[in-house]
Amino acid sequence: MTAVTEEHLGDAVSDLRARLEGVLALPGEAGYDRITPWNVTVPVRPRMVAFVASADDVSTVMRFATQHGLRVAVQSTGHGALPGVGAGTILVHTGALSGCQVDARNRVARVGAGVRWQQVFDAACPHGLAPLSGSAPGVGVAGFLTGAGIGPLVRTFGASSDYVRAFEVVTGTGEILRVTPEQHPDLYWGVRGSKSTLGIVTSVEIELLPITEFYGGALYFNGADAAAVLHEWARWGVGLPETVNTSIALQQLPAVPGVPAVLAGRLTVAVRYTAVGDPGEAARLLAPMRAVATPVLDTVAQQPFAALGAVHADPVDPMPVHEGHALLRALPAEAVDTLLAVAGSESGSVQTVVELRLLGGALAREPRHASALCHRDAAYSMCLIGAPVGPVAEQVVAHSRAVVAAMAPWATGGQFPNFAPEAGAERLRRCYDEDTLHWLGQLASRYDPVGILAVGQVARL
Ligand SMILES: Cc1cc2nc3c(=O)[nH]c(=O)nc-3n(C[C@H](O)[C@H](O)[C@H](O)COP(=O)(O)OP(=O)(O)OC[C@H]3O[C@@H](n4cnc5c(N)ncnc54)[C@H](O)[C@@H]3O)c2cc1C
Repeated sequence: MTAVTEEHLGDAVSDLRARLEGVLALPGEAGYDRITPWNVTVPVRPRMVAFVASADDVSTVMRFATQHGLRVAVQSTGHGALPGVGAGTILVHTGALSGCQVDARNRVARVGAGVRWQQVFDAACPHGLAPLSGSAPGVGVAGFLTGAGIGPLVRTFGASSDYVRAFEVVTGTGEILRVTPEQHPDLYWGVRGSKSTLGIVTSVEIELLPITEFYGGALYFNGADAAAVLHEWARWGVGLPETVNTSIALQQLPAVPGVPAVLAGRLTVAVRYTAVGDPGEAARLLAPMRAVATPVLDTVAQQPFAALGAVHADPVDPMPVHEGHALLRALPAEAVDTLLAVAGSESGSVQTVVELRLLGGALAREPRHASALCHRDAAYSMCLIGAPVGPVAEQVVAHSRAVVAAMAPWATGGQFPNFAPEAGAERLRRCYDEDTLHWLGQLASRYDPVGILAVGQVARL
């Protein structure tokens, strides 16, 4: 890559601006600050931002960056933002790629890279069709799927990225490719799990499922019942069929609009539950959790599929976030006691949420088309969310690491690429097994030989 200098860039930037259908913004120019990510703690200060309007725009940016010794990063919502986007980087912002069409007959949604899951719910559910989103409808579809994506129905249907029928991808060389199991199958394998390592997705076609309702919601318990609830959840989860999905969260939610008063400013425990199929059977399976203590709030019911986002009730508005994450192979009673000691009612935990998701079921089976998603055999995903602000900022990060360390005896050593984003070789080795990392590296040398996309969490060593 050629080193970048100001003289070098001056006229070239005007030229780039003229060639783009979308808008280019430099620091201080109108629009530049629209890139503040959802996770507001992460500084995102690129050399310039291209609010792209088409795949051609992305291709133009790739070629410009190659010519001028810059790198290219991509952002949609900023839910997974991480540091490193600075003066050597052009940020491709996908917000304007906002098309979302549902082909009900073929059960497919064609969505632009700037679309959030909520938009897909709004377009698909009126046709009786369901998208396999994650827990938060505000997350971007493309960022979620390139991280392979697990949602509240993961045990029933597997990873959401297994339901991608096609991507449009702009590679690091600026080529615009249609990627399917038959066309560029190497990219079809790699894009599902390697984030933006191999290219920037400009649109995606996802399969929709003929589901109109689910049985689910959350049982919220007092923090004082945390030990009884968590122990029972661990025992109960082991025998559940894969029609049933569950997660549990030790929560200390702030008193802000949208948080029910009964859950605010104290420790509560949320047992989330999502099931498709016979609601009577789903209710029967949940009965042991309903009996373990008296819930302070019970939102579990037969619900329209469009209400799926309410199960986890993740925060919607931008906020400061520090994430911790680990995959666990088992959750014996000793592990539950350990977690309670570091994150339970007497622990002095400073995390907003400490969550365990039960995995297994369809996730653990190889899908029809293999992908770069590793660690399908993990039994639980543990995720911590804290707000690193004010006097507790450093404490939040240190405590998050301490919780992850305490659970190490039960951890697989792996991670999913979507959670607790981070750059660096150590992180890559946790996200991918050796073969996958090797092949992603080979593909990266082919589709991005100069390393234009080597910013942040890309899977090349
Ligand atoms: C509240 C909350 C709930 C979540 N729930 C879940 C969940 O249930 N399951 C789950 O799997 N994950 C979950 N996540 C993680 C989320 O899926 C990732 O953070 C994801 O990367 C967010 O994508 P985004 O586009 O919204 O964010 P962004 O910060 O805009 O993008 C994050 C990264 O995704 C990649 N990316 C984004 N757009 C593109 C593109 N067009 N082409 C190629 N790569 C791209 C890039 O590497 C980018 O740096 C959650 C995160 C939050 C904050």
